[in-house]
Amino acid sequence: MERITLNQAMENHLRAIHEALETNEWATTSECARRLGISSASVTAMSKKLSRLKLVKYVPYHGVQLTKLGEKSALEIVRHHRLLELYLSEALGIPWDRVHDEAEKLEHVLSEELEERISKSLGDPTQDPHGAPIPARDGTIDHVEYRALSSVEPGETVTLLRVDDRVPEFLRYLGSMNLYPGTVMKVITVEPLGGLLALRVCDKEIVLGSQAAGMIRVTAAAKAEQRQ
Ligand SMILES: [Zn+2]
Repeated sequence: MERITLNQAMENHLRAIHEALETNEWATTSECARRLGISSASVTAMSKKLSRLKLVKYVPYHGVQLTKLGEKSALEIVRHHRLLELYLSEALGIPWDRVHDEAEKLEHVLSEELEERISKSLGDPTQDPHGAPIPARDGTIDHVEYRALSSVEPGETVTLLRVDDRVPEFLRYLGSMNLYPGTVMKVITVEPLGGLLALRVCDKEIVLGSQAAGMIRVTAAAKAEQRQ
């Protein structure tokens, strides 16, 4: 994919906006500030800058949406990020809780040639280690419907599809319980008022807090599985 020349801060911003828009119609200033670990004032200044470059549509009090051009640039940096995460994990054996931080640095300097070689060597993968879709080289991306695990009713069997990749402690914790994308689990009980959630995975019972369950995205399993 070709892209216009952007600096590192702009690329980080576009990726944060893209990820915020995966679950919301608008990427709000506060959400971007949280994702990027910077002040709301800095986010607003950057949103105005990206708006002048026609990469985003900025509406005060709503936040931003990506323009076609902005989406193209965002998907390019998202592709770099997610391919790098998978490469670091698969080829170099780096644990899944450490690949995000490394990919954040490398995504900005990855050449088109290296991107292509990494993609080929991994068999043109479509998912990163955390279950997030990797944009294809033509700039398209799979749109997957997810539910937060925290919204699943007791008795339902679901498959873990994707986890939030930004908190290493959380990923280490999930890894220690073998909760990776593809894991099938049954929700046994949910405490009222957003409390603890008890799951059965294989023959083990696992208890998660509501915040952790909110960072795990799942889909409903096939109906036949739910009846078992
Ligand atoms: Zn990541």
